[in-house]
Amino acid sequence: MSDTPVVTRFAPSPTGFLHIGGARTALFNWLYARGRGGKFLLRIEDTDRERSTPEATEAILKGLTWLGLDWDGEPVSQFARADRHMQVVQQMLDAGSAYKCFATQDEIEAFREAARAEGRSTLYRSPWRDSGVASHPDAPYVVRVKAPLEGDTIIHDQVQGDVRIRNDQLDDMVLLRSDGSPTYMLAVVVDDHDMGVTHVIRGDDHLNNAARQMLVYTAMGWDVPVWAHIPLIHGPDGKKLSKRHGALGVEEYQLMGYPAAAMRNYLARLGWSHGDDEFFNDSQAQEWFDLTGIGKSPARLDFKKLDHL
Ligand code: GLU
Repeated sequence: MSDTPVVTRFAPSPTGFLHIGGARTALFNWLYARGRGGKFLLRIEDTDRERSTPEATEAILKGLTWLGLDWDGEPVSQFARADRHMQVVQQMLDAGSAYKCFATQDEIEAFREAARAEGRSTLYRSPWRDSGVASHPDAPYVVRVKAPLEGDTIIHDQVQGDVRIRNDQLDDMVLLRSDGSPTYMLAVVVDDHDMGVTHVIRGDDHLNNAARQMLVYTAMGWDVPVWAHIPLIHGPDGKKLSKRHGALGVEEYQLMGYPAAAMRNYLARLGWSHGDDEFFNDSQAQEWFDLTGIGKSPARLDFKKLDHL
């Protein structure tokens, strides 16, 4: 494994501009790969057809380019890979690690209401899971993963440590929607596997997803990547970064005249540290950047500091 070249990726959903949080995630992935002679890939997660726009993709590519974060190869469109995602769903169905669920929305709601009334977990348990029924004429269905009911799933995370999730808290997540489209949860695993991604470095809002995504890795017998879930960025008031904190788009800083190199330096220090070093050039950053230097608590965006760049 240690001989495997490092492959990282940035996988934004093109629903808006490149914001500070996304830029920092991209930068960490870029530094990690570049410092190890590895590859840094870009995947546009455009499966949500209603919210994804070509303008947002354009803005993200422009933001990365301005920041100097060059990626290897062509950006991959997740939506364009739907056939491959469906192929994996079929393999999982054939292997019995996934099943077709014909339950209607009303039936699922009734299950949840009854569970609530009886004080049971409202996690949906489909009666189709063990029914052995592979098709049901003319009835719409979704495909669900067959999650284990006992034991634990452990995420060995480079930032968060070992995170243990009880399997009875994982539902049989949907892999294929009733309109035949693959879900993000499935697509992200298939794409990371096919693209040879060795390290998944992303926001810790995806930590729970990692436990569920592990189900697909296990079912397919694929190597699990190294996980590193970075704490999100907070504003100076300690609250999750949002519009009310001011400029959030990388583009805005570009327009205000901040140099890209200063921005890289600043973003690198948001949640990562290397001793007392505050300023460094790109080759130092690439050489020094390591997952062990990422803090466990949320980084704070301090606009006063940024103003003095
Ligand atoms: N597309 C996801 C997002 O923008 C990221 C998924 C991932 O990094 O695995 O939040």
